[in-house]
Amino acid sequence: MGQRVGRPERSKKIRLEEYQTMTAEVEEEEEEEEAEHTKDAAQKLSQKLKAICGLADLRNEPVGLYNIGFSCCLNSLLQVFFMNRRFTAILRRIKVPYEAEEQKWSVPYQMLLLLEEMQQCRHKSVHPMCLANCLSKHRVRLFVLYDASQLFLILWNLIKSQITNLDLAESLTDLYTIRLREYLVCQKCSLETKKNSNMLMLPLPMFDYDSHRVKTLEDSLRCFFAPEHLTEDNVCYCERCDRKTACLKGMKVTHLPPTLTLHLKRFCSKHGDRTQKIGHYLSFPQNLDFSQILTREQYQPEAPEEDSGLYDLFAVVAHSGSASCGHYCAYIWSLTDRKWYCFNDSSVCQVSWDDVRCTYGHSSLRWSETAYLLVYRKKESAAAV
Ligand code: ZN
Repeated sequence: MGQRVGRPERSKKIRLEEYQTMTAEVEEEEEEEEAEHTKDAAQKLSQKLKAICGLADLRNEPVGLYNIGFSCCLNSLLQVFFMNRRFTAILRRIKVPYEAEEQKWSVPYQMLLLLEEMQQCRHKSVHPMCLANCLSKHRVRLFVLYDASQLFLILWNLIKSQITNLDLAESLTDLYTIRLREYLVCQKCSLETKKNSNMLMLPLPMFDYDSHRVKTLEDSLRCFFAPEHLTEDNVCYCERCDRKTACLKGMKVTHLPPTLTLHLKRFCSKHGDRTQKIGHYLSFPQNLDFSQILTREQYQPEAPEEDSGLYDLFAVVAHSGSASCGHYCAYIWSLTDRKWYCFNDSSVCQVSWDDVRCTYGHSSLRWSETAYLLVYRKKESAAAV
């Protein structure tokens, strides 16, 4: 120890790029330590970065959240947010509201307080009471079991709207926003109309156009992006033809975000009937390559050098039970110790990939856990590796 080691410039570059949204304070300290060029300093720095960015890192084991009345959905989503270093790097830079009353109303600030409590606590779990009270001021009710896809959007929009620093709010948008181009092509005159649209998650079908069960995530993505022929009752008005004509409607991906959220549409209600849960088997891989799943027509990144289309599975929010009565938990990959954990309210335990795969679903096991939200993490681009 204490020996000079030739730390390659390249490895430092990776670290800086990975944490490029961190606080100025950390960057200054990094510069100081850079001067020392020792292995000890590098290790110290790495520990500090881990402590600041990750949740599982401080105590070497993740912390649970007590269920405070049907809060399993909220708890699962919070753990997914907190285990995402890119998200916590943004959260740590928010401007703290000055007034005590303002602090009670600020969702990002209450999330930051909860994150700090989790990082510093010496217990197995903490109570998310203050955040829950804050959310109830914004009409997110306690003692109601939310749909995880809806609650994710509510939380995300509350966080985004309450971050006062515009650059930071933009970083949050960039982290989660999927950019698409919708198109409509007239089948008579070939006139194409285009429209850009943004989504925070892709709502993926469990059935194809012929009402057959979709069995893999890749097939579900293909169905979602498959162009649709609109004929008969669904014809659209074409400006050039000046009448309603048959047309081809579809969507292209123009940008995929660092954190990609996919929503398996397992809850459906037909003709105003009670909501049903679709429990059938649908497998999802640990790695996704959009250039292999979608056609060149469907996957057209505007900045191909940044959009490799390669993703690693990061989290699975799973639902067990029926549509009207159920429970949520989250399986999350820890970037720190490179292991899967199951966050089930106050109980957190290390699990295997086989345990995560158990959430693929099974039609005959009505109460089994089934994946509902899948969160993928973009692989670093080749230039950064
Ligand atoms: Zn036309």
